[in-house]
Amino acid sequence: MAGPRPDGGYAIVTRDDGHVREYKTATCSHCSKIIIFGAGQDEGGFCMRCMKLICGPCADAGRCVPFEEKLAREEALDIRRRQLSKVLGLDERGSS
Ligand SMILES: [Zn+2]
Ligand SMILES: [Zn+2]
Repeated sequence: MAGPRPDGGYAIVTRDDGHVREYKTATCSHCSKIIIFGAGQDEGGFCMRCMKLICGPCADAGRCVPFEEKLAREEALDIRRRQLSKVLGLDERGSS
């Protein structure tokens, strides 16, 4: 009986040789990918800016871009783009 864990989660992985192993998991706070610890893959890293666990690719990127912030930024960009094209009265032109 597995109750809710306060610190991330666990993944049950059945290997080719029939062994079943339980791995600790966490969610990357930058891209919300699942990180599986000790499964022989990239185990990710730790972001010193937001002080949270992140996945390998995010650790390699070396930037702090929390997932929610990224979404908000894209949304804001989209709104701005629409306002701009409305103001300028542009349709498909405007490429330099
Ligand atoms: Zn990530
Ligand atoms: Zn970060």
